[in-house]
Amino acid sequence: MKIIVLPGDGIGPETMAATAEVLRAASQTFKLGLHLDFDIAGHDSLKQHGATVTPALLAKVKAADGLMLGPMSTYDFKDESKGEINPSKFFRKSLDLYANIRPSRTYAGMTHALGAFDLVVVRENTEGFYADRNIESGSSEMRITPDVVISLRRITRHCCERIARSAFELAMTRSKHVTLVHKANVLQMGDGLFLEMCHAVAKEFPEVRVDDFIVDAMMAHVVRAPHKFNVIVTTNMFGDILSDLTAELSGSLGLGGSLNAGRDYAMGQAAHGSAPDIAGQNIANPFSLILSAAMLLNWHGQRKQLPAFLAASRAIEDAAAAAILSGEVTRDVGGTLSTAQTGTAFSARLLGATIED
Ligand code: NAD
Repeated sequence: MKIIVLPGDGIGPETMAATAEVLRAASQTFKLGLHLDFDIAGHDSLKQHGATVTPALLAKVKAADGLMLGPMSTYDFKDESKGEINPSKFFRKSLDLYANIRPSRTYAGMTHALGAFDLVVVRENTEGFYADRNIESGSSEMRITPDVVISLRRITRHCCERIARSAFELAMTRSKHVTLVHKANVLQMGDGLFLEMCHAVAKEFPEVRVDDFIVDAMMAHVVRAPHKFNVIVTTNMFGDILSDLTAELSGSLGLGGSLNAGRDYAMGQAAHGSAPDIAGQNIANPFSLILSAAMLLNWHGQRKQLPAFLAASRAIEDAAAAAILSGEVTRDVGGTLSTAQTGTAFSARLLGATIED
């Protein structure tokens, strides 16, 4: 499996170095034959190539088996005509990575005021309120007069249907419960269409229990009793916000792994950003990227029917739980290790892992 690795901005290089160490250990233990091909995106690429991402990089990613994208300082990238393209949007749109799968769970060894939970936010990734990706070219945000801005939100039957299907398929592998999150009381047409398509897809999955919550009330419900949720499906921006909340509820945003998946390609990417407030200090939690890498291995293993990749993915998840239990973690989740030490301790666990299947 050839993986293109783009460390990114801010804490990206530190957390990606730890993740690469873990991937190499997984490759050795599970005989995956992983080939990590490092390249650049974001600020480094802007300096070197005049653009945060380039067509040549996209071609390279398309020819590989997967992509690991580090966090990007997207807020710095304001003008596409100057090469300041949001790399995250670029890959999601160019590779049609329509499903952003963001799991959040609690771990033994940490105190959780709200009790244990294990849920996945399934976020639509290619349209919604995101002005940089929901129209063919240009931006869907317009300054009408110096004092008036209009932001358009795109919702399509096609995108609603495919994200709903991703959620219901995922629910069949979990506890067969899907929660639809929407604002159909106000966005009657857009979120009405989202709900209509979710219910249409639900008919194909009669064993799955379905409920729904209006997004503002959902914030209260998920903070009050996160264990009541299992698979949550929602539109782009609601999913972006909700998944940061659920990651933090699980202990830290630094535990928020995610996979961006489409029909032909997938990209592992932490749920959080480049964390400039802690960049360069060797204290960022690499678990979010490590767990994203595990999701990428799982995606590849399922697609190509490769049991070793599925086993490696499970072993990484188990190693994360074991590391948290024994306190071999960064300070955001109660440990004392640096980012680099966390990656090395994690790798040592994987090198000692036994192969079950
Ligand atoms: P952020 O997600 O980078 O950080 C929010 C808070 O969480 C900060 O206090 C940070 O220190 C903490 N945090 C994040 N990741 C952590 C980790 N691995 N370990 C420990 N603590 C962690 O959000 P921000 O500061 O608002 O944004 C910074 C930049 O990232 C902006 O340019 C923004 O546009 C960009 N961003 C990019 C992505 C992405 O690449 N997918 C996502 C969100 C934000």
